[in-house]
Amino acid sequence: MHVGPSIGDYEVQLAGVSPDQGFASEKFRSAMSDALKGLIYVMGANEDYIPFIIPGSGTTAMESVTTFLQKNDRILVISNGVFGNRWEGIFSRYDVDLTLLKARAGFCVSQDEIMNALSNRHYKMIISTHVETSTGVRFPIEKYAGIFRDHCDIVVVDGVASVAGEMVRTSTWKVDIFITASQKAIGAPPGAGLLVVKKDMFQKYTEGNIAGYVTNLENWKPVMESSFEGRGGYFATPPISVVFSLRNAFSRIIEETMEKRSERHAELAKALRKGIKSMGLAIVAQDGYESNTVTGVLLEDIDSDQFVKTALKHGVEFAAGVHPELKGRYFRIGHMGWVSREDIFKALNAIGKTLAEFDHNARIPDLNSVFE
Ligand code: PMP
Repeated sequence: MHVGPSIGDYEVQLAGVSPDQGFASEKFRSAMSDALKGLIYVMGANEDYIPFIIPGSGTTAMESVTTFLQKNDRILVISNGVFGNRWEGIFSRYDVDLTLLKARAGFCVSQDEIMNALSNRHYKMIISTHVETSTGVRFPIEKYAGIFRDHCDIVVVDGVASVAGEMVRTSTWKVDIFITASQKAIGAPPGAGLLVVKKDMFQKYTEGNIAGYVTNLENWKPVMESSFEGRGGYFATPPISVVFSLRNAFSRIIEETMEKRSERHAELAKALRKGIKSMGLAIVAQDGYESNTVTGVLLEDIDSDQFVKTALKHGVEFAAGVHPELKGRYFRIGHMGWVSREDIFKALNAIGKTLAEFDHNARIPDLNSVFE
């Protein structure tokens, strides 16, 4: 139950194993077309958006927003943790004017701070992270997207840890670019950066852009458009086996429906938090901002690396905490993609047994009671 790659699924993995691996093959062209359509579905995007599946990872998709930036452009990033801060690293390589708002660990940047940064100012791009993987907080983008719209040209959301686990409504929220990756709540292997981009971004904002070569989405656009129609195309070799796996994952997501999938994630996340609290541990995310996909758990007097190592002996892999403010004092649980009730039981069981090894007299909760 690491925070990504998430819990694997053999059917999805095996879909990627094929002797017919040519990107020009009929089999691949049809898989790519289906995968692009599946991406539109999980993103809640309509025909005004172009879906992209590019080799790399979430970070590659993040850096590709430079396709729509020019030198000296003003950018506002609302960062709720380590992955929000990643934009600082990306933009340090480019000549842009960045304002980064930072939250305390476990919190979202406050509305006052956001409104203050917006007051009487226009940005080229405003970026936020839907679910911040370093702490598990969910930013209420549905509340802010419309406000951002009035203060910038391009609204960007990093949904690497949310898409396919949280309900995403890219078109309704009027987000211009929504980003994700293959290996989290979509539940496919790592190897692809995924994003949907509003078509008019290409007409309005690409001239004289600062993007590099492989992250310049202008190079990928004709390939994606023609692949959407099943005709394929080449700019650079696509992540072929990941695309086969993505097609399988998306077809199962469509069958489950995003509504039911996000409800399943919400229900499991709630049960997990209830069980954790019943053992006397606290959740990192502030009340009301907990996500469906990632939970950070505070440890009062146990070193988190030791905790994660010990839990592994009890059969569950958790992720160590990475937020510098809480380093060594918390661990993270990924509960996304193909996560089931059984996984929640196993996680609570492993946490209880691990606590016992550290002389905590926590009682493993009656596992059915957490679902009441
Ligand atoms: N954004 C968020 C919210 C993430 O969780 C991650 C990965 N943990 C990234 C961006 C970077 O994605 P990747 O590791 O796939 O490059």
